[in-house]
Amino acid sequence: MMIRIWFSLLALVSAAPLSAQEGPDDGFDAETILALKGLQLLDQRMNAIGYRLVDANAPYCDQKIARTGLLLNDVAQYADQETARFALGFNGSIGITAVAPDSPAESAELSPGDTLLAINAMPIDDIAIDDPELSNEQPVYRRVAAINRLLEHALADANVQLTISRGGISRTVPIEPVLTCPGRFQIRVSADRSATADGKMVSVSSRLADYFLSDDEFAAVVAHELAHNLLKHRDQLDSQQVNRGFFGQLGKSAQRIKDTEIEADRLSVWLMANAGYDPEAAVGFWTRYGKEHGKGIFSASTHYRWKKRVQLFEEEIAKMAAMEPVDGKYAPPLLTGAD
Ligand SMILES: [Zn+2]
Repeated sequence: MMIRIWFSLLALVSAAPLSAQEGPDDGFDAETILALKGLQLLDQRMNAIGYRLVDANAPYCDQKIARTGLLLNDVAQYADQETARFALGFNGSIGITAVAPDSPAESAELSPGDTLLAINAMPIDDIAIDDPELSNEQPVYRRVAAINRLLEHALADANVQLTISRGGISRTVPIEPVLTCPGRFQIRVSADRSATADGKMVSVSSRLADYFLSDDEFAAVVAHELAHNLLKHRDQLDSQQVNRGFFGQLGKSAQRIKDTEIEADRLSVWLMANAGYDPEAAVGFWTRYGKEHGKGIFSASTHYRWKKRVQLFEEEIAKMAAMEPVDGKYAPPLLTGAD
């Protein structure tokens, strides 16, 4: 299993020269380290893009969460923990994988490779992970999920003190959160090209992330999935008892799913523009993807064909062009209810 994961990860970093036979002088396996660093790079891009989207669009979200811009990682997720620590720079069990640019975490001078030791003086090893609410998480993700939840609650009340260690020296830093739109973001290691929204989490597969030509294209797909979550499409479809599985491809269910896809496409370009991404990248990405893949996973009967989707993007971009932005931003009608 792990070998297959490394193999697909290696495809991500294949542009880098590989020395397959010999590891570096430290005795760690070079291919594994390269794969881990490649995955960390994707995690960092995803974290930066997600943060920018939820931060810039905060004025239009009625529900907000306190956020730092940190992405944490549990070394227990890796088959070879020693190699993972070496590659990612941690010396403990929970490390900082990514720090979003212009985020509170960056202001607090936290950086990837720092080890997280405590939150408000509570050692991370003392944080309970047997909460029933965490039971739907895979066991190796429970600790990070518990820490994220504790952090989110603590941040909602006040500034938080994080104790970290870097190069063997520990220090405690205050971190002041910002309120943003809700949502979490993750790269899913997978050989398929897919992106999903489960109501809370936006996931992009590592193979799809590798296909993007720019952060703007990356942001186009993240913004589409985030739009599903902000518009609460999953709850809506569940309450209408829409079948999202195979039978969802037929009849009424298909039409309802298609309606949510149209909304997500329409909102996505507004979210992008407000975050400083070029909304035309949505047009560019889906045109390129559509021409190369035609009847791919994104063009089942529940999704519009790519030419139709491109037309939706163009319509929304034209609406923004006709508006006077306020503080460089365009209030999305789908979030403000002004449509
Ligand atoms: Zn969608």
